[in-house]
Amino acid sequence: MKRVALLGFSLESNGHAPVATEAEFRDYMWLEGEAFGRDIRSAAPESPPEIRGFVKEMDRHGPWTPVPILMTAGGASGPVDQRFFEDVVARMRAGLKAALPVDAVYLPEHGAATATGDDDPDATVFEMVREIVGPKVPVVATLDLHANCSQRMVDAVDVLIGYVTNPHVDMEERGVEAAEVVREMWAGMKPSSHFIKLPLIPPSITQNTDAGPYADILRYGKSKKDGDIVNVTILSGFTNGDTPKNGMSVVVSSRNGKAKAREVARDIATACWADRQRYVPEMMSLDDAVALSVKTGRNISLPPQLLADVADNPGGGGRGNTTWILKGLHGAKAEGVILGTFFDPPLAAEAHRLGEGAVFRARFNREETNALSEPYEAEAKILKLHDGACVGRRGIFAGRTMNLGPSALLEIGGLRQVVNSIRLQMLDTVYFEMFGVDIGAARTVVVKSRGHFRAAFDQWFPNERIHNIDVPGLNMPVLSRFGFKRCPRPIFPLDPEVTWAP
Ligand SMILES: [Zn+2]
Repeated sequence: MKRVALLGFSLESNGHAPVATEAEFRDYMWLEGEAFGRDIRSAAPESPPEIRGFVKEMDRHGPWTPVPILMTAGGASGPVDQRFFEDVVARMRAGLKAALPVDAVYLPEHGAATATGDDDPDATVFEMVREIVGPKVPVVATLDLHANCSQRMVDAVDVLIGYVTNPHVDMEERGVEAAEVVREMWAGMKPSSHFIKLPLIPPSITQNTDAGPYADILRYGKSKKDGDIVNVTILSGFTNGDTPKNGMSVVVSSRNGKAKAREVARDIATACWADRQRYVPEMMSLDDAVALSVKTGRNISLPPQLLADVADNPGGGGRGNTTWILKGLHGAKAEGVILGTFFDPPLAAEAHRLGEGAVFRARFNREETNALSEPYEAEAKILKLHDGACVGRRGIFAGRTMNLGPSALLEIGGLRQVVNSIRLQMLDTVYFEMFGVDIGAARTVVVKSRGHFRAAFDQWFPNERIHNIDVPGLNMPVLSRFGFKRCPRPIFPLDPEVTWAP
């Protein structure tokens, strides 16, 4: 029976966010050895959906032996602590060596990690794997489309497969594709890849794949897939990574030699570059958002609205606790508002001490140190408490086991605010529903998310009633407001005059 090693280190590092610690990974996802093996066979796995797809596709073709080594992920954060990262690589190395011989390796990674002492941790992991298994064993990796890809990453594996949807509803499909590539390589296929990096960092909220320039270039890339092409990957990249690896990437893998891969990659990169002026973010001011919410709360005949705090998206390394929108809506006495996850462990713990029904002075951000996460105080009633364990209901993590940590639903004037203890993006309706909140009855919904919420909240909110709010945060889409330090320059749109040719 074929033996396939499974391992991955998954992190999206925001260059403006605080260092990602071991504790964050242990809280968010840490699956090693037997526990990892049990998880991939469970009804609601914690491991990434790509693994579910990979396992399903392998199972479809008969018996095989999964060899689970170590899968860990952090919620998007800053660069990972170097000592911890080295420990992870050492554990992976020892686990993989002990598992030899293997017939393939599958790595589901995010691809936009940085470490405090390593600019390219994803490449470090891939190269470690290649060194141990040698040049002949298929090594296939899947990447988030926000990956900041490098030549080293491309060189170390046989095929890189990026997501093609944002919100990422194709994670499982990409895992299936990875299994298909592994199986084709077992049958003798020898892929060659070509990589192109563009000096282009599109703002996060211009990277949706339902419509717009990124949707168009993905469609164009797909049209280039023929019998010679194994995979076309076009990565928008993680703009706020602020790393030497910043920039959109095109990776094409061919069954028919390097020249074919290069020709197709050049063609796609040229089309992508020609369209760069279209990556312009659309935002609504806080004043307009507050006025809209107040009006909507008072007049039941108006349709409900969704306000997205895209700048404070924990899924992009935001702290998940800025108070601009909360303050604005509370101060203006907005009604019928529900606000999703606000990361504040001390406040959640206090609510659990006081109990449901208690009225108290809620002090937000009493221990937070990031300057953008300002403190706020308001009288609040504890409506409901929860231990935070849940299974995704609707959205990109539907069916997946997740954990918010000790959590509470607070009533603050006409607002109901979810407070949680593990920092994560508001991307599933269950984060409200676990508290008995009826999302369909709310007048205004506020989420700290750049865009993944769209795959969950589309049940109630078409695009025209979703507004990206222009408030400060570690993921501000207006790039000129950040002091980029490490990303290569010149780069578009920070340097509008930059030129590029294949
Ligand atoms: Zn992503």
